[in-house]
Amino acid sequence: MKVNELLDLKGKTAIVTGGAIGIGFGISSRLAEAGANVIVASKNPEEDRVAVEKLKANGWKAMAIPTDVSGEESVKNMISGTVDAYGGLDILVNNAGIYPEIPLKDMTLQDFQKVIDVNLNGVFLCTKYASQQMIKQGRGGKIINVTSIDALHPSMIGLAHYDASKHGVWGFTKNIALELAQYKIYVNAIAPGGITTPGTQKLQQSTMPAGVDIKAMMDAFMKKIPMGKFGDPDDIGKVALFLASDMSSYMTGSQIVVDGGVLLT
Ligand code: NAP
Repeated sequence: MKVNELLDLKGKTAIVTGGAIGIGFGISSRLAEAGANVIVASKNPEEDRVAVEKLKANGWKAMAIPTDVSGEESVKNMISGTVDAYGGLDILVNNAGIYPEIPLKDMTLQDFQKVIDVNLNGVFLCTKYASQQMIKQGRGGKIINVTSIDALHPSMIGLAHYDASKHGVWGFTKNIALELAQYKIYVNAIAPGGITTPGTQKLQQSTMPAGVDIKAMMDAFMKKIPMGKFGDPDDIGKVALFLASDMSSYMTGSQIVVDGGVLLT
């Protein structure tokens, strides 16, 4: 097959959770450019609307289904809305995630549960209902989980709940890759390092408890990156397109680290 055919997603339908801004929008853009019908599914209807407008302005196909990935009914609605609109589902990108910086001594059970609810339970719910639909269709599928370098190694303090959730997603990825291969549903993960997004910008401006200097922590992290810079959402979008397409035809259960080399240091 020619390279352009391998990358062609025309006729495929993809859901990108948290696909309206940041890394999610980088992924929505590359999948839509490759021809997929893209469902932008973040919590904020206005952000979803704006993202879909931007995608459509390029002549690409996109639709918004505002979704809370931690709510079972909301996730079921996301899947049924996708099938009603486009007749099926071929690609799920579990990208929605949160990373509030909280030192362990200040972390409440609610703080811990909230991160697990969105980052881990959300991936479970979306994958469960998306894979049911893919199995019913009988034509296989691709699932891409956006983890983090924190699924492998902690990047900074204050992210114990986040690291627990992302290690969990990586374990979940491997187990379902094993289970779903029989249906030709292939599951892989992308582990980003520092990427400039509304989320990381908000983190840099957030107020921290006394004794936690987030700016100093971010500067120290930046100094460790061999490539000397944060990545852009499109750095992740391009790898997601690779995993969503036939370019990755013999891959399942893998995690691709996209971090400017920071895990080397
Ligand atoms: P971001 O700029 O904060 O964007 C996050 C997106 O997720 C938003 O669209 C947000 O929607 C959505 N979202 C949050 N909670 C949701 C929920 N319950 N249901 C549905 N959507 C929800 O974040 P980002 O930096 O692009 O990060 C995206 C993913 O990459 C996350 O999984 C994150 O852990 C991972 N990651 C990021 C970095 C990085 O440096 N940026 C590094 C490693 C891994 P609302 O605006 O409506 O809340």
